[in-house]
Amino acid sequence: MDKEIKKLLAQIVHPETEQNLVAGGMVEQIVADNEKINVVIRLAKTRDPFAVKIKNQAEELIRTAYPQATVMVTIKEGGTAPRPEPKQKTTTGGIAKVIAVASGKGGVGKSTVTANLAIALRNMGFRVGILDADIYGPSQPKMFGVEDYLPEAVREEDTDRIIPAESMDIKLMSIGFFIQPTDALLWRGAMAVNALKQLIHQTKWGTLDFLLTDLPPGTGDIHLSIIGELKIDAAVIVSTPQQVAVADVIRGVELFRNENVNIPVAGIIENMAYFTPEELPENRYYIFGKGGARRYAEENGVNLLGEIPIIQSIMEGSDEGSPAAGIDSRVEKEYRQIAEKIVEKVLKSC
Ligand code: ADP
Repeated sequence: MDKEIKKLLAQIVHPETEQNLVAGGMVEQIVADNEKINVVIRLAKTRDPFAVKIKNQAEELIRTAYPQATVMVTIKEGGTAPRPEPKQKTTTGGIAKVIAVASGKGGVGKSTVTANLAIALRNMGFRVGILDADIYGPSQPKMFGVEDYLPEAVREEDTDRIIPAESMDIKLMSIGFFIQPTDALLWRGAMAVNALKQLIHQTKWGTLDFLLTDLPPGTGDIHLSIIGELKIDAAVIVSTPQQVAVADVIRGVELFRNENVNIPVAGIIENMAYFTPEELPENRYYIFGKGGARRYAEENGVNLLGEIPIIQSIMEGSDEGSPAAGIDSRVEKEYRQIAEKIVEKVLKSC
């Protein structure tokens, strides 16, 4: 089947290089069975003006040949991306920009957003890592299907470095690798902070363009400790329509804006903003209320980065260890738009 798909892709010619996708070495991956066909195409240029055209052509050709399968073509762009500059040489010095993902309350989709944003950034050609610092419910290992990963330490230049998990080209370190769900209570407070410090400074991240940090929900001492250790460049706040106007979210924004903290808030993402049935893609049902995040953002001078609908594949992706932005083009598009805004803000303002 891979061979047949390759033949189809060989029919598509990149208008600029005038090479077909196969001959030009642009087909990075084909994963196909009778139900699902996922293809990754890598284009050398970032923001290749032909990316969308090529993606649509490829999807159409494959869909016509395999009408029974769900087809997803991901375009990865890279090589010449305007990468952020790495910081000076410290233990986290290979990381150019650190972005914190925070929320006022648990359950609003903070971890899901972190995982899918990471995939969207990866698809844009950036080198991405995730630090899962949510001591109350570390869920990144599950989202990336690496729950059983046992981090190993290696000795380098007289320090122990911890090797992160790697899944879908994303380096992942989680406090969840070190605790059992039943330990959670015990781990709150000082012990967790110390463990996180170790993860921040001893993980062998290598060179990253972006490290996304999945913070615990709420605002507390633990946040201040992490903020102090990590040198966060920008914060992104995730909220649901019901939560957006309540004190938790406001406190979340204020935490970063506090004059002693002073971290730019890149904006708010309204998650589970509305529901669109697959068969009626133009209809939007604002089940939990409409426009709250926009109003809040305007009133408080915060940027609204985007509204993510309730989509079944997002939930399924989290459960199955494969974030939906990597397998569902509708989800990828939503997250790509937000990721582009974040990159622009972070590269400009920080
Ligand atoms: P948090 O990290 O804020 O505690 P999670 O990311 O664990 O929240 O998300 C809570 C639940 O909501 C998960 O089951 C997740 O799959 C689901 N979920 C999050 N965002 C969406 C969405 N946009 N559409 C559908 N389900 C979602």
